[in-house]
Amino acid sequence: MADVVVVGSANVDLVLPVQRIPRPGETVLASGLTRGPGGKGANQAVASARAGAATAFVAALGKDDGGALLREALSGSGVDLSLVSSVDAPTGTAIITVDAAGENAITVAPSANATLTLSEAARTAVREAKIVLSQLEIPFGTVQAAAEASGYFILNAAPAAELSDELLGHVDLLVVNETEAEAVGGPKLASLLDRVPAAVVTLGAEGAVILTRTADEIRVPGVRVEVVDTTAAGDTFCGVLAATLATSSRTGPVTESDLTNAVRRANVAASLSVQAAGAIPSVPHGDAIDARCA
Ligand code: ADP
Repeated sequence: MADVVVVGSANVDLVLPVQRIPRPGETVLASGLTRGPGGKGANQAVASARAGAATAFVAALGKDDGGALLREALSGSGVDLSLVSSVDAPTGTAIITVDAAGENAITVAPSANATLTLSEAARTAVREAKIVLSQLEIPFGTVQAAAEASGYFILNAAPAAELSDELLGHVDLLVVNETEAEAVGGPKLASLLDRVPAAVVTLGAEGAVILTRTADEIRVPGVRVEVVDTTAAGDTFCGVLAATLATSSRTGPVTESDLTNAVRRANVAASLSVQAAGAIPSVPHGDAIDARCA
């Protein structure tokens, strides 16, 4: 049985370093081109596994070079791939421009990810997992099915989307950045609690804030670091958060102190990820995270 099951996307990332992200209608020249494994689901599964949780991934890959690249990266990080299917569509692809300040702009072609459904075997794994984690780069119906089957469901509502009460009714913990928070709850962060019982809003360099219906909001300050590339910062945060909740020794429901502890560790892990380039290559291992938490 996995501690964490991630139901999500996997993409080949084509990364283009630029001085400035182009405006509409503009062309800019990149200083290079790299191809690497990524996608929100894959990044989060790797982050969870590297943080020490037994992690299984439910995803769809193409029968192509990109699919092979992702399988190698995921299995090399210890992610269980028995629920990853190979389909007759190209592997998802993301074009990522990263500017000189480390900010990025991303366009994703979902391709194989758009075919992902929850098989019977995947549904069983989801039902038995301690924590299930999904994002929105796969069909909504698949996210909904995972939410309904899971015991404790974390939704990273990214990319930003308006969400139904039908889905949010099955969410135990929502994780969003500020833009995504506004798409779900409007301009006031506290409004998220009208829709989900608990939420973590990530605030970039400022860290994160925890909102629950039973306690005052808790701010976890950011860690000051030199930024190289923010790609996968949010994904590292989500994967490490899920892994830490799943592997903390308690057996009962998730408490505020479990959540605070997990957000602190996720925040440290994400600050490490922004100091390295790429998506999966930038995701830290548990020993590096814990050395900084000590
Ligand atoms: P996303 O990358 O999904 O837009 P954020 O920008 O909020 O989300 O970043 C997610 C997390 O990554 C933050 O909560 C923080 O832990 C870490 N992080 C992001 N940017 C920085 C930064 N400049 N310095 C330190 N940590 C950062």
